[in-house]
Amino acid sequence: MAETIKSLQPIETRLFINGEFRNSSSGKTFDVIYPYTKDVVAQVQEADVKDVNDAVDAAEAAFPAWRDLGVDKRGDYLRKLSDAVRESIPDLGKLESLSIGRPVSMYHDGKMAADQFRFFADHAWTTQGTASTNTPGIFKMTLKEPYGVAGLIIPWNFPMANLAGKMAPALAAGNTVVLKSSEKAPLTSLYFAKLVEKVGFPPGVVNIISGYGQPAGSTLAEHMKVRAISFTGSSLTGQRIHAASAKSNLKHVHTELGGKSPAIIFDDANLESAAQHTMFGIQFNSGQVCIANSRIYVQDNVKENFMHHFQAAMASVKMGDPLDPNTQHGPQIDHLQYKRVKEFIEIAEKEGKITLGGNPDEGYFIKPTIIEDLSEDSRVMKEEIFGPVVAVQTFKTEEEVIQKANATEFGLFASVFTTDLDRAIRLSRAIQAGTVAVNATGITGSAGDGAFGGYKMSGSGREGLLYSLENYLQTKTIVIKSA
Ligand code: NAD
Repeated sequence: MAETIKSLQPIETRLFINGEFRNSSSGKTFDVIYPYTKDVVAQVQEADVKDVNDAVDAAEAAFPAWRDLGVDKRGDYLRKLSDAVRESIPDLGKLESLSIGRPVSMYHDGKMAADQFRFFADHAWTTQGTASTNTPGIFKMTLKEPYGVAGLIIPWNFPMANLAGKMAPALAAGNTVVLKSSEKAPLTSLYFAKLVEKVGFPPGVVNIISGYGQPAGSTLAEHMKVRAISFTGSSLTGQRIHAASAKSNLKHVHTELGGKSPAIIFDDANLESAAQHTMFGIQFNSGQVCIANSRIYVQDNVKENFMHHFQAAMASVKMGDPLDPNTQHGPQIDHLQYKRVKEFIEIAEKEGKITLGGNPDEGYFIKPTIIEDLSEDSRVMKEEIFGPVVAVQTFKTEEEVIQKANATEFGLFASVFTTDLDRAIRLSRAIQAGTVAVNATGITGSAGDGAFGGYKMSGSGREGLLYSLENYLQTKTIVIKSA
């Protein structure tokens, strides 16, 4: 670890406001801790209310010139940023391991981020409206315009992917931004701020602050000068973001929230493949994934066969030091998450049967864990656990499993494993989720050109290469009457 930290020096820990790095106005800092060893990696400046206000003021001042620069020249900046991010992927991967315990072997966010900046560098040309001459003597047109200052608030589990998924379209559309990273994973956002400086962005166009939900996040969410906010995080905080908008200036709100995703396995499915996919879907990033398939429903006549493959797949995962390239499974991010997952395992011990894993290890590690025989009403079946813990339940009929899959307030993602095309289509339509994957779980390695987002309490709005620009544009109509 010491060698890795040395190779990354100097680790940036300051706030990036108006094109300059600076310490927090309160002088407060918070620690970033490597979850594998519990050593302090860095002490990061914590943004206070004044820092958030300064960042918003800088973004507001920079907005007119950035908006008026035009798509082409804004694209030049984004293209350079994409190249700079791509060159930095190894450093970004190590910094993320040190912050959240993600194995370096499982780091994909850097490439995803570089791809987002590259795509939106070229894509903002599609920002166009309509024209109408339907009424004699009237020429009418609609324009798409940026909001102004966009607030971007991201979680800790995929920091660079979330940063880029919001910032690239927001900037391409002509907004200026204030991004608040998660207090648990601020280091890659600050590294990225150094790239923004290196590329030579005009001061104030990109501002990056580190800090907690209170006061930094809430100040941004309630800010009267922030006209749009894009938030990814838990459903509880998402409700607070909507409330903050409602009680301040009704800023445009886009939220990507939590999940409790079902994976449904029918008796005609390729069970070995289904086991591999669902293992990865719950184990990747130690289960700290919004679309993790935390509920598996397998048809009762093939349960034994499926479990044979699934247990073997889950048991084969190699846990260890996230910086070791052979490690597949790191610790939970911190004591809080570890404790939370442990509590759910304790409930499962009482209410169901643990058939693999359980028994949390020391050092924030949770082994891939399988629970069976739970009541559908158990908290384990209803709440987002955010750990490598999966409940496997059985069903007999299609109607029954649709009802069970939909019996949740979440609606982010679902998987259906079957070789019957008609059934795949029926289920895809019947399940209340923003995305339904057939014969796959979420982590399929496909490009982000679909729409991603939640039904029900999993969020409002959509992200994706073809969708995200809309989150940062408002529509104006101009009516011209002939004189
Ligand atoms: P979180 O809601 O605790 O925090 C997310 C961000 O919000 C952090 O930056 C935090 O500091 C900030 N925040 C907290 N309180 C705030 C407030 N009152 N006002 C403004 N900002 C505030 O979530 P987390 O623990 O960082 O992330 C895990 C959650 O994110 C899970 O529920 C997961 O499912 C969800 N998530 C969803 C997606 C998606 O695309 N749907 C992707 C990744 C993670």
